Amino acid sequence: MNYDLIIIGGGPAGAAAGVYAARKQIKTLLIAESFGGQSVESTEIQNWIGTPAISGIDLAKNLKEHVKFYAGEFVNIKEGERVESVEKSISESQQPIFQVKTSKETYSTKTILIATGSSRKKLDIPGAKEFEGKGVTYCASCDGPFFADKDVVVVGGGNAGFESAAQLLAYCKSVTLISRGEFRADPITVEKVLENPKMTALTNATPVKIKGTDFVKSLTYKRTEPFVDSVEIAIDGIFVEIGHIPATSFVEGLVEMNEFKNIKIDHRNQRTSMKGLWASGDCTDGLYHQNNIATGDAVKALEDIYLELQRMK
Ligand SMILES: Cc1cc2nc3c(=O)[nH]c(=O)nc-3n(C[C@H](O)[C@H](O)[C@H](O)COP(=O)(O)OP(=O)(O)OC[C@H]3O[C@@H](n4cnc5c(N)ncnc54)[C@H](O)[C@@H]3O)c2cc1C
Repeated sequence: MNYDLIIIGGGPAGAAAGVYAARKQIKTLLIAESFGGQSVESTEIQNWIGTPAISGIDLAKNLKEHVKFYAGEFVNIKEGERVESVEKSISESQQPIFQVKTSKETYSTKTILIATGSSRKKLDIPGAKEFEGKGVTYCASCDGPFFADKDVVVVGGGNAGFESAAQLLAYCKSVTLISRGEFRADPITVEKVLENPKMTALTNATPVKIKGTDFVKSLTYKRTEPFVDSVEIAIDGIFVEIGHIPATSFVEGLVEMNEFKNIKIDHRNQRTSMKGLWASGDCTDGLYHQNNIATGDAVKALEDIYLELQRMK
């Protein structure tokens, strides 16, 4: 079957696109390995606008129900399928046609919205997995307020690390940032964050071990310069900002990406460098990544895709 649009992803971006596609009556296929996206791991999300608090599991359920409620005859949903590759050819009418190959089938479409998100690079030291969600967290703007008046560590000396530290300084008792090498964040951001008396930042420091009981109690790190073999500091939370891995390998070579493999987009309309392909949410080179942003990006893309499909008729 030929589709007008294939949406790849079932997180906030993919689900928002699905709802808009249905309401615009676009002949759509939504392919999602699973519904809900990254924050499905969260016990409580407090910034999903319109809902004061919701668990990640309930958010995932709501996203799926919302798409299914309006899907009707227009949006076909394939859950549990993973897209492996996208290829482009040109139709007889000189329009681009894309073949989307999943683990099970190949589908054809005039346009594609990539909403495959990303995953956080995980800290790989003893205790990191055991205490994930129990003091070890990967999102300062999501979980920071739970650590009011507590002592916390940020792991990562890039912009994300320093920006997380800046947010945490608003409510935490102290913030210690540890960076494996020199700081990689913009000097102006580093300077501003370091001005805060609650802030300590260490270069050439590597986390070694996390200890705790029900919750994180301490982090041990070592330093190469000045050499320190092992220091254990008492802390309540560890915010890890060591990078993301965008789920974009299946379109490598087809669309332009930045050095981190995020898809470059035109931020006015979410178009990629390839005509007929749009991208939204955490898989893009947008500076900020949140649930509400992912849905807004997808809505922007759907408005543009709808107009483009009208032009193709
Ligand atoms: C632990 C944690 C807590 C968070 N808490 C919050 C919070 O409280 N508030 C907030 O605003 N943000 C939070 N975030 C950030 C937020 O989750 C992301 O910004 C948001 O999920 C991005 O949405 P997305 O739709 O772009 O991508 P994702 O949520 O990553 O969804 C990607 C979707 O694509 C699917 N997919 C991926 N590859 C393929 C493929 N090849 N084929 C088919 N399907 C594929 C996945 O199965 C998934 O359905 C949190 C993130 C984490 C990691």
